Amino acid sequence: MSAQKKDKNPYKICTWQPESECVGCALADNLKCRFNRGDLIHFMGLFIMFALPSFIGVILGGWGWYLLGWFAFSMFFFYVWESYILCRHCPYYAEEDKTLHCIANYGVYKLWKYAPQPMNRSERIQLFIGFLILIGYPFPFMLVSGQYLFALIAFWAAVMFFWTLRKDTCSQCVNFSCPLNTVPKERVDAYLQLNPVMRDAWKRDAEENQIS
Ligand code: SF4
Ligand code: SF4
Repeated sequence: MSAQKKDKNPYKICTWQPESECVGCALADNLKCRFNRGDLIHFMGLFIMFALPSFIGVILGGWGWYLLGWFAFSMFFFYVWESYILCRHCPYYAEEDKTLHCIANYGVYKLWKYAPQPMNRSERIQLFIGFLILIGYPFPFMLVSGQYLFALIAFWAAVMFFWTLRKDTCSQCVNFSCPLNTVPKERVDAYLQLNPVMRDAWKRDAEENQIS
């Protein structure tokens, strides 16, 4: 039997359809709905601006080995926890591939199955807890060792990271149920109309929440 070519877009998500099919779509200029290398570099640059002073501050403070704990938590968070509570709900996750190709967590191995329904309340709360641990981890080490300047730079970079992200990315991101997402409802509805698998899952979710 000849090997059948795998469908790369089994959920028929428009983000993964051929780009030629997007011609004329009114959402194209308002959503980050297709992978763009520039968006990924922008995201990574913002994160590095926070991570770099944190690294330096922790090392100069004499706690360098404890960065391994930060690295281990980051791996767990990006590959397992955040991937489950946030990314598996994202249209970028719907692509049939072992790794994620998106504008932030590019290259993460996909452990979970795509979940077209919105994030639930517990997942939204967990996301904030995860961010708090991820961003907060280096600060105690810098503060107890008197690395106040690097702590201040890292704190400012973390504020800028979230401020810029929310302004430039969350306002156009297609993971609409993320608690940081600020895409206007009419655009969310328009995207859902183009994606029946998501639209039906969101509808079912809304009905279940009304009943409970
Ligand atoms: S919303 Fe969908 S169809 Fe429209 S431009 Fe984005 S990916 Fe293409
Ligand atoms: S939620 Fe963000 S990081 Fe996760 S898959 Fe979507 S775009 Fe990537």
